[in-house]
Amino acid sequence: MIHCNSCDDYVNACFHILTAKGYKKTRTRVIIAEAISQFAKPFGPKELHDQVSQSANIDFATVYRNFQIFSGCELLHAVGTQGKFVACSELHCETNTSHTIFYCRSCDMTEEVVDTSRPRKKVAAPDSFIAESRVTQVIGICADCSA
Ligand SMILES: [Zn+2]
Ligand SMILES: [Zn+2]
Repeated sequence: MIHCNSCDDYVNACFHILTAKGYKKTRTRVIIAEAISQFAKPFGPKELHDQVSQSANIDFATVYRNFQIFSGCELLHAVGTQGKFVACSELHCETNTSHTIFYCRSCDMTEEVVDTSRPRKKVAAPDSFIAESRVTQVIGICADCSA
């Protein structure tokens, strides 16, 4: 098991996890990871491509493929119901952390709570179900929007 709590930086933590899963650290992926770390609001592959395009010439198909790799490795978490994602706020290589995203459907605010003391809850999946995310999402209204 790899521990990477020493990675205070999203990009470094991404590559600890990606390389452990057999994905090479390429210049393209570094640029994509850096772009991801700059978003303050949920985004999709299109917005990520726009962001990447400010500093590099990487085609949309490549950005899209890497977007799927990053989300498959849970470096990105899905929020809302519009195909948007946010960067995981606290990456741990240990798999027994429990991630919960609170998402305001009014203003797109997200806040992630990561519990490292509690093993990830083992919910029995239906037969043959392929789990793509084990991150819990709570959708609601934030304090600012409800005031
Ligand atoms: Zn997370
Ligand atoms: Zn809000």
